Amino acid sequence: MKIGVIELIEDTASKSWTDRIYRAFFKKYHASIIPQAVSVWCRQLGHQVWYATYYGQRDPVRLLPDELDVVFVASYTQASALAYALAKVYRMRKTLTVIGGPHAKAFPRDCLRFFDLAVKDCDKTLIDDILRGHFDRHTVITSGRPLREIPSAEERMPEIIAASLVGGRLRRLSVVPLLSSVGCPYSCDFCVDWSNPPKLFPGIASASSIWRSKTATRR
Ligand code: SF4
Repeated sequence: MKIGVIELIEDTASKSWTDRIYRAFFKKYHASIIPQAVSVWCRQLGHQVWYATYYGQRDPVRLLPDELDVVFVASYTQASALAYALAKVYRMRKTLTVIGGPHAKAFPRDCLRFFDLAVKDCDKTLIDDILRGHFDRHTVITSGRPLREIPSAEERMPEIIAASLVGGRLRRLSVVPLLSSVGCPYSCDFCVDWSNPPKLFPGIASASSIWRSKTATRR
């Protein structure tokens, strides 16, 4: 299958050169790890995957190919109007539309006005089930279990590089965000993370050396 994964980091297109510089050098590094994990899982499951982040650089529809079987959109609530607009575009193309991220977790029912599936918590098994068509459309779905594994920095390197390119090139000042844990030991009732127990991930120490070796080969 042809699968697109796009994370919306910004909700509007760039208006001025200062916006563009700020978004290109700072805001783009707000890219999340789970959309990258979804992209890796789809690739590991044998699918053809395109991953992109939208930070106001250009028309988000042009960041992915036109002909997709499934599109995963990750969005926070401020960018949800843009996510919904994208869902309308892809549904007109008969693409299965799936939304995840903070907005889907907080407002899954609202997401179903525009998306086929709204995902609250996911892992590789749930992504496989989605791609195998195990869920009816217009459904809120969740793995219902804590996230135990995420792809390593090395496995996510194509996505990390795609998210870190500035002007189509890797720069010396490119930044690689790393996630050492998920969840939280507290349970604030206003927070989407209140029900996720804390979990540490291994392999952070080796990530910077992997990144250095990969970038060195591209200079
Ligand atoms: S707001 Fe959320 S992440 Fe922060 S301490 Fe409370 S439960 Fe944890």
